[in-house]
Amino acid sequence: MKRILLEILLVLGLAGAGYYAWNQRTLAQTAATQIQEATGQAESAQEKLKTAEESLGKEQERVKELQPKAQQFDAVKGALAGGQVLSDLEKLYAREKNLSSERMLGLGVIRLMTKGTEDAQSLETLQKTLQLVDWDKQRNIICATQNALAAAGQDVKVLAECNTPKPLRPETEGKGAAAEKKEEHKSAHAGHAWSYAGETGPEHWGKEFPNCAKGKTQAPLNITGPMAKTRYLLAPDYKVGDLTLVNNGHTLQVMGTPGSKLRVDSKPYDLVQFHFHRPSEEQFDGKAFPMNIHFVHKNDAGEIVVIGVMVKEGNENPGIRTLWTHAPTKEGPEVSPERVKFNPGNLLPRERDYYTYQGSLTTPPCTEPIRFFILKTPINMSREQIAQFPFKHNARPVQPLNGRVIESN
Ligand SMILES: [Zn+2]
Repeated sequence: MKRILLEILLVLGLAGAGYYAWNQRTLAQTAATQIQEATGQAESAQEKLKTAEESLGKEQERVKELQPKAQQFDAVKGALAGGQVLSDLEKLYAREKNLSSERMLGLGVIRLMTKGTEDAQSLETLQKTLQLVDWDKQRNIICATQNALAAAGQDVKVLAECNTPKPLRPETEGKGAAAEKKEEHKSAHAGHAWSYAGETGPEHWGKEFPNCAKGKTQAPLNITGPMAKTRYLLAPDYKVGDLTLVNNGHTLQVMGTPGSKLRVDSKPYDLVQFHFHRPSEEQFDGKAFPMNIHFVHKNDAGEIVVIGVMVKEGNENPGIRTLWTHAPTKEGPEVSPERVKFNPGNLLPRERDYYTYQGSLTTPPCTEPIRFFILKTPINMSREQIAQFPFKHNARPVQPLNGRVIESN
């Protein structure tokens, strides 16, 4: 419970709902005015989050420093309990025609704080607000809010990159909590800590994500002989379902439709998502295709299997036309266009011959091991469709084999 309080405290400070506003414990009306002012200053509030996060992440001494804030938080809770602040704030904001997203967010947080997460309207408002805010500027706010909601046991779908904390579990004092906070602090920055070029490009991923530099079975690979023979039976069985996709700033990612499975020697894996790279990450005798798709599957034990499909330039691809029509060209939240059905199976070639090897996630944290099946037969996309893909270059360079032998069926 303490952790939820701290999380919400973060959001509170961050969204500018301002614990200091209540510190003085002035009249509710004054508090409401101060909130209004504070919520206009989301930029500086972001700084506050950083500072608060950092103090949370460090040693217990630092955590102690947060104690007064936690007490202020209690004061805040007290002030909110009667609902007076909320109603004052609602009245105040009702007079304004165009409420800024920061203020709406602040209001959402106050509602959440007053009515709790059981109140459907608070959640709805908050979630609507999350969709409205300027995405690039407000990433930290959104992530913190999302995490607070998730920590409170709510099912929130906002942005895949906000690493949602693990489900709430009974928590003990002291070290455990501090260590956990540290871990979260790390992952909270995973969102924009890496890219495909420059100072956060692939050659620097290892600094923050050790697997990427130290792993011995990293992917992608340059697929070349000598090869060994293998006989895995590969049986993808994808189903038509509602289309849900996201531009996560690194790629376009489409969620797996319910019931879509891959069987490898009759062992089932669920299709979690598929996404695109340009140019293809896998190379063949040193040559890349214009693009590739990675279909990512997972079983209950958490084992991951990826099917790679190469894309060559050719006829227009009707399946891709559907995706591109609805794909956000800029980074943002998941979208689920109404009444659009899609079958991921439409993006698989008819021939299922493959190369296979043990690899890794090709994006941080570069987790190993992951079994790759790279299909030998490419699919077509038109030149225009390739050009329309919103990422010009999002491919990790090929990785050392380190003694691995690529197999082929
Ligand atoms: Zn990929």
